[in-house]
Amino acid sequence: MRLRDAVALSLVMLALGGRSAKAGEAVPVGVAVVDITPDYPVRMTGYSSRQQESEGVESRLKARAIAIGGDENEGPAVLVAIDNCVIRSVITDAVASRLKTRVKVRPERLAICATHTHCGPALAVGLPFIFGRPLPADQADRIARYTRELTDGIEKAALQALAHRKPATLAWGRGSAGFAANRRVLKDGKWVGFGVNPNGPVDRSLPVLTAVDSEGKVRAALFGYACHCTTLGGDFNKICAEWAGYACDDVERSHPGAVAIAIVGCGADANPEPRGKLDQARAYGEAAGAEVRRLLAARTGLTPLPGRIACRVRRFELPLEPTPSREDFVRLASKPASEGMLARNCLERLDRGEAIPTTVPYVVQTWCFGDEMAMVFLAGEVVVDYAIRIGWETDAPRIWTVGYANDVPCYIPSRRVLTEGGYEADSSLIYYGHASRFRPEIEDRILGAVHDLLPPVFDGPRR
Ligand SMILES: [Zn+2]
Repeated sequence: MRLRDAVALSLVMLALGGRSAKAGEAVPVGVAVVDITPDYPVRMTGYSSRQQESEGVESRLKARAIAIGGDENEGPAVLVAIDNCVIRSVITDAVASRLKTRVKVRPERLAICATHTHCGPALAVGLPFIFGRPLPADQADRIARYTRELTDGIEKAALQALAHRKPATLAWGRGSAGFAANRRVLKDGKWVGFGVNPNGPVDRSLPVLTAVDSEGKVRAALFGYACHCTTLGGDFNKICAEWAGYACDDVERSHPGAVAIAIVGCGADANPEPRGKLDQARAYGEAAGAEVRRLLAARTGLTPLPGRIACRVRRFELPLEPTPSREDFVRLASKPASEGMLARNCLERLDRGEAIPTTVPYVVQTWCFGDEMAMVFLAGEVVVDYAIRIGWETDAPRIWTVGYANDVPCYIPSRRVLTEGGYEADSSLIYYGHASRFRPEIEDRILGAVHDLLPPVFDGPRR
């Protein structure tokens, strides 16, 4: 930055300092993109059928960051979205601790979201059961290396976004895209398999937050869509950012200099349909991108937002059903792949005198842009019922619910999905290393945390 620019920027910062920016007023906003593509083969997560390391790169993986607010008062808030299947709390906590020390960003003012692409590197957290068999040492080393590089990349993106803050105005609006379909096929109220359930609930809304500079140039477009990043199947073994990455590319191409950031809503039970082909992933990216571009073009239709954000976070435990008995684990230990592997691991833990965890750590975070809009960040692969219920119990038009945020400990099924059973309720838990399913009251616990964190001004008529 040249000295003249630096002086101009600090004058703007001073002018903004100590005031609570009103909706539509300029606030410091910075964006950054860091390439997080591994330049070596690495095992990918998402499909247990894949038994080889990645074979090339179809599209680059990115960490995309937006920093909002000056250093006065509570300080800036930073959101980083990564092209990966998951984000885990050890990584979020490591980045939060570095940012707190280096630039005094408070942990509740950092959100890290994963796009859930199923064509990204595995991370060295909770790994053993994903692949269903022990990993060769060299493959495990490369996963550990990538995990370190990713952690550094997220920090770098956050620091660059903070360093590049310039005055911009914020606004938001909501569009929609049509490619998400409910994937839970039911018969007589019970899950029978993956497919398309045309009667199942799905959230096709597409919220967008924009930051625009004083000359009317778009600097950032943060957008969400509640759908799995699973256009490509387990037979596709190249690194790829999927529809989320293609959507960002689409927006950035049409707005040179802008950074587009994709985050994913409560789409754990939604797949892009139809699926299986690279061209379809590109087409869904272009569909989401076109909707973002439409909202950017209709800028006057967006609601101005204040730049001062109130951030809160709550950590608590979600209870699991009783742990299976030793006899159950002995019986399950002979099963193939992940199920047998998890049972054998549990037996070893019991033999060492260790307890099998009976709860799963969980985190809910809220960012309130004044009374205008609140983002609710939920950890895990959250099914659509949570977005629907949060919408019912709050003032839905002012709420943006985000999944895959800050940690992905496993799927987060609702009471309904637990009753219906199936992948999101039961079998998926094995890959995440949980020996039993969730208790139905997790839905009320999560909703309770959301209500505790959100101020009453966001309560809806059905609370
Ligand atoms: Zn998933």
